[in-house]
Order: sequence, then C-alpha cells, then structure tokens
Amino acid sequence: MRIHLITIFPEFFTSPLGCGVMRIAQEKKLTEVVTVNLRDFATDTYRTVDDYPFGGFPGMILKPEPIFRAVESVKQDNSYVILLSPQGRTLNQDIVNELSQKEHIVMICGRYKGVDERVREHLINDEISIGDYVLSGGEAASLALIEAITRLLPGVVGDKESVASDSFISGLLDAPYYTRPQDFRGYKVPEVLVSGNHQKVKEWRDEQAMKLTKEKRPDLIKKLKD
Ligand code: SAM
Repeated sequence: MRIHLITIFPEFFTSPLGCGVMRIAQEKKLTEVVTVNLRDFATDTYRTVDDYPFGGFPGMILKPEPIFRAVESVKQDNSYVILLSPQGRTLNQDIVNELSQKEHIVMICGRYKGVDERVREHLINDEISIGDYVLSGGEAASLALIEAITRLLPGVVGDKESVASDSFISGLLDAPYYTRPQDFRGYKVPEVLVSGNHQKVKEWRDEQAMKLTKEKRPDLIKKLKD
C-alpha cells in the first residue's frame, strides 16, 4: 500500500514512521509512506498556503489551490483521497478494515481553522475523524489511521492470531493478559491461566471477553445482535 501525506509539517512524521509496525512495514516494502510538503505547491515567494476566510471570521483557512495541486501531483486511477476532519466518519475498526484494502491512499492534513470547503466538495473521496474532539491539525489523526491500517496488512504483524484476538476484530473487547511474575505483591494471576489446560484457558478467555464487553462497551453487544 502506498500512502501520501499532504501536510505543512512533514517533520511531524519522521519519528513515528520510524517506529514499530510503521517502520517494519516500510522496511518489508509492504507500505510506502511519503510526505508531501504543501508549501511546495504554493505559487508565491512566501510559499503561502493559508488565507483569511470570506465573511470576516477569525482564524486562517488552508487555500484550495496548493491542496488541489499537491493531490493532483500524486493521484492515480486507484487513489483514495481522505481529508482528516473532526466532521468526518468517526474512525472504527470496520472503517480501518475497509481502508486496509486500498492500494493508494492520499491523506490531507488540515491546520488552522480548517481547509477551504471546495476541497471537501470536489477533491476527496472520504472525510475521516478520529473522534469527537478537535486537534490543531490532521497530522496526529493521520498517524492513528496509518498505524491502525498498517497492522492489518498481511506480513506486518508476525502472529496473525494476535491481531485476530484484538478488541473490535471479532466484535468484542479482548480478554485480559498477565505476564510474570505469577505473584506480584500478593496479586495473583488467575489459576486457570497456569493450569496448562488449553480448553479451559480458551473458555476463560471467551467468558472474560464477553464479561468485559458487557461491562465496558454494551453498545458492541447490541451491534453484534443487530
Ligand atoms: N474548524 C474546524 C471544525 O470545527 O470543524 C476544526 C479545524 S481543526 C482546528 C484543524 C484541522 O485539524 C482540521 O482541518 C483537521 O484536519 C484536523 N483535525 C482536528 N480534529 C480532528 C479530528 N477529530 N479528526 C481528524 N482530524 C482532525
């Protein structure tokens, strides 16, 4: 999968893309993530990418021309263009699964008061929010999206079963995990996990996943039933 990130802060991505699954996926050539500096597509000597909104409101807006040019410089027939925005579809595992099937994703990271509305009207295929709160830019949101997509790509995470048992994949939350020591300050690991009985361990994990989901996210149980 190829991903182009349109941003005024390419440096924002240097460290995160060099860590964990995002680094591994790029090293294995399973993903190619390229930052595109929006300012390279400005036409004036000051490399201006923002301007005042019509109507006299406070704040600055990212201009349409550099964004259109930047997207058009990387867009192909198979490209899927996403605007990161608090007003978009709220990201969940179903959307991540859907996006993990794309061959080429272009992500537009907004800044300031947002982007000129004509970008949303005429340039993008999708508008994605990472939750009902407002960030100062789309960069952190795009990283959340890239990491969630990357870990689903075949060959990125070594143990496929590990991904399959994660929260939301089956529709439930994941069961709890414990590691050594078996007794930490008197807090003991549940006996069944050290019993060596694989069937009993599986039953315990299934019960725990159902119990935790009912307690913490009853909406997920309802979604499974619908
Ligand atoms: N005025 C906009 C509004 O209220 O809808 C918010 C603009 S926000 C300060 C600047 C940029 O941050 C947005 O254009 C978007 O790219 C990004 N952003 C902020 N919150 C986000 C969220 N929850 N999900 C995805 N992107 C977000």
